[in-house]
Amino acid sequence: MKFSLIADTLGYMENTTKRLELTQHLVDLFKITPSDIISKVIYLLQGKLRPDHEGVEIGIAEKIAIKALSKSSGISVKKIEDEYRDTGDFGQVASKILEQKTQTTFLSQNITVERVYDTLYKIAELKGARSQDMKMKYISSLLNDATPIEGGFIAKIITSNLRLGIADYTILDALAVAYTGSKENRPALEHAYNVCSDLGKVAKSVAENGLESLKDFQVTIFSPIRPMLAERVKSPQEAREKMGTEFVSEYKLDGERVQIHRQEEKIVLYSRSLENITNYYPDIVENIGKVLKPDEVILEAEVVAMNDDTGEFLPFQELMHRRRKYKIAQAVQEYPITVNFFDVLSMDKKSCLDLPYVQRRKLLEKNVIEDSFAKIMPMVFVKTDSEVEDSLENAINAGCEGIMLKQLNSPYRAGARASNWLKLKREYRNELGDSIDLVIVGAFYGRGRRTGRYGALLLSAYDDKSDTFPSICKVGTGFTDDSLDQFYQILSDKITIRKDPRIESGLEADVWFEPEVVIEIVASEITLSPIHKVAMDKIRKGSGLALRFPKFTGKIRFEKTSENATNIDEIVTLYNSQKRVVQDEK
Ligand code: ATP
Repeated sequence: MKFSLIADTLGYMENTTKRLELTQHLVDLFKITPSDIISKVIYLLQGKLRPDHEGVEIGIAEKIAIKALSKSSGISVKKIEDEYRDTGDFGQVASKILEQKTQTTFLSQNITVERVYDTLYKIAELKGARSQDMKMKYISSLLNDATPIEGGFIAKIITSNLRLGIADYTILDALAVAYTGSKENRPALEHAYNVCSDLGKVAKSVAENGLESLKDFQVTIFSPIRPMLAERVKSPQEAREKMGTEFVSEYKLDGERVQIHRQEEKIVLYSRSLENITNYYPDIVENIGKVLKPDEVILEAEVVAMNDDTGEFLPFQELMHRRRKYKIAQAVQEYPITVNFFDVLSMDKKSCLDLPYVQRRKLLEKNVIEDSFAKIMPMVFVKTDSEVEDSLENAINAGCEGIMLKQLNSPYRAGARASNWLKLKREYRNELGDSIDLVIVGAFYGRGRRTGRYGALLLSAYDDKSDTFPSICKVGTGFTDDSLDQFYQILSDKITIRKDPRIESGLEADVWFEPEVVIEIVASEITLSPIHKVAMDKIRKGSGLALRFPKFTGKIRFEKTSENATNIDEIVTLYNSQKRVVQDEK
């Protein structure tokens, strides 16, 4: 299949943000894609080679990509760098440079999807001292034969800049239309995706064997399951209204969510965003076999740092030490953890997703042997507002950030944020009702004591419909001297020459960053704002939403990608619920 078919589709898609049009372009592409390469097409469309949890990264430094472009075009590195500084978009630069080249040389042979994919795969596998040279050769050979449009997209993919707002659900819609004739069938595709977290695999199955084949998708060991998420509530009353007559309250511990897959000796751990994080927790790998009775099992747990002497839970921030590349062994010694199991997703090759909560809980209690390292999440049955209130009080006294309320008969709804699970936090009594997770997109230099560091950060929420990062506030409070130093260091790697086109803000920051680092913020209120762009025009024409008195809580959400940051719908819900409270009080 000609690669130009993908490049053309991506080109059309870049010119629209309308979901219907985006979907239609994909449908047209899928209809002409041979089914044996549909999974490759899906991965390339997302700028990947395999699903994220497999950890196959294209990872090419911009420097190498620039050299490769220079080699295949005969245009100097310096000139390409200047061009890049001006436009800030490596894809555009590559197209432009290749355009100049094609004016002087003959066009070469067509490049195919298979060739692009296989070459990129080879590059991802290259390791060792000489690998940089080899990577450069592979890329320049691809660019040699690419048209300017194709070259532009190859350049974006290799520098991980291919971001066209092709969200998972848009691809699922397009697959449903292309292969089953109707968007109505999307739930079947979604179900398959939720249990395997691999869009390429789902696409191949429906393309080759139709809708029926999706029923065969089962929970499988070492394929992470997309996690079930909770809705937030602000009060015990609200929780009870949503939950009905009897439900449970579990501790909501403040740590990292880990999906643990065990098959005899082999243990693999996945994060909330389904990355493989096994290397960060050698202590879990070593000890978990002893506490789990089944040989083959998939469980979920919250991993929390604790004080070895007092047994107290420590703040989430302490888990940061586990993110070091080196010295993990030292971190394991200095920052011990407990593993607190709260769900079981599969046992002895049988999925537990459709079992009601109470049965999954019983299985958990039967099959985990508690010790000082492994615990089962404390839980109580609750019925009334005051019982919910008491359980919240107890949880907070025990060092939790709140409680999780779960319906007794609810299945595990993989990939859904559903009202069968509610989260109620300490903050519900005052202000916004919950903290929110925002992406750092820019910074302003500090003055006085903060000279030489950043004095304030510009933060954005995530708009999952358009894949953009509209700003919502500037934050300068809640930082300690240590955290200011830490931010300066972490963010120094993320500085971009120009503002990433996905960032939308009426403010001009002193420095712009790749939108990658997510932090937690509390605020007193959400107000209308002409400067900030979240939910622009949604509530009032010409206004977006902004946070009033935002404050950094001290938590860097390193386990979250920027796409997991709080999204626009959640902010609008918070804004509306706050209006309700104000009216209720009147
Ligand atoms: P999201 O709801 O999108 O995960 P978040 O991480 O900001 O976003 P939180 O408010 O932290 O959401 O609440 C959900 C998280 O709480 C879970 O992802 C999990 O890491 C953690 N958690 C702690 N205790 C429990 C529990 N008993 N049951 C389920 N999750 C728990």
